[in-house]
Amino acid sequence: MKIFDAHCDVLLKLWRGSSLTFNNTNHLQVSYPALKQVGAKVQCFAVFVPDDLIGDARFQAALEMIELFHSKIIKPYPDIKKVTSREEIDDLKDHEIGAILTLEGCGPIANDLVRLQTLVNLGIRSVGLTWNYANDLADGVLEERSAGLSNLGREAVRYLHEERIWTDVSHLTECGFWDVLERTDFVIASHSNVKALCEHPRNLNDNQLRALIQKDAAIGITFVPYFLSEQHSVTISSVLRHIDYIAALGGVHNIGFGSDFDGISKTVKGLDSYFGYERLINELLKHFPEELVRGFCYENFNQRVPF
Ligand SMILES: [Zn+2]
Repeated sequence: MKIFDAHCDVLLKLWRGSSLTFNNTNHLQVSYPALKQVGAKVQCFAVFVPDDLIGDARFQAALEMIELFHSKIIKPYPDIKKVTSREEIDDLKDHEIGAILTLEGCGPIANDLVRLQTLVNLGIRSVGLTWNYANDLADGVLEERSAGLSNLGREAVRYLHEERIWTDVSHLTECGFWDVLERTDFVIASHSNVKALCEHPRNLNDNQLRALIQKDAAIGITFVPYFLSEQHSVTISSVLRHIDYIAALGGVHNIGFGSDFDGISKTVKGLDSYFGYERLINELLKHFPEELVRGFCYENFNQRVPF
């Protein structure tokens, strides 16, 4: 079963731990051995610069992570290919894995769209405007002001639309969410779940889910345990509940996955690393026709690649 995973934070771990290699299955939830064993086809790698860096150090860190993407993930493993277009994904041979660079939060660009354009030129193909707090473009879900997009944020989304780059609404306030949907046709939620099932500010309410479905956007269900359930111990069956819910809203062909592996320390029982996809797929096949499972795992994101 091919897998398209719309979000992981392994670049942050590689950036923090300079001696780590992408082979390290002890310290990394997404690793080369896991991708190979489980059947990864496309993996998104987020550039996420932590909020404790300030000023120009933020853009510098983003560039360093892109450098690590090339030196630690692409260069040492000839069967992992950096992909930036539909054509390059279609050209992947059976044993090859496509790697897409994404940006989680535009903090690193500060108020300079040339920096965003530079990151797109370097291969970034999905852009989340914020992490959890405010920046020059928009407010994130934990910013109490809870505003939408600034003029600069609006300009950024228009630019991304023109370039056919995904704008990622995960982490954005609801107000910002609607601002984005008005301004681009190329939108995803890379790693967010259903608010009606788990009341967390990072999750999407029914109106948002319906709007994404109407917009023909892919929605990446994420394996963050506290976005899946308020229960203490969270199992794979929780993931299936979120799938059932979005399917009932009419979004069965919009559902995908954005694991958030390497961005989480607590994990779902049985889904504690990329290897867990094998268990998840077995469970999915017990509950859904194979055709739908192929959609969840790969096709629903893959078919919507606009770039
Ligand atoms: Zn995130």
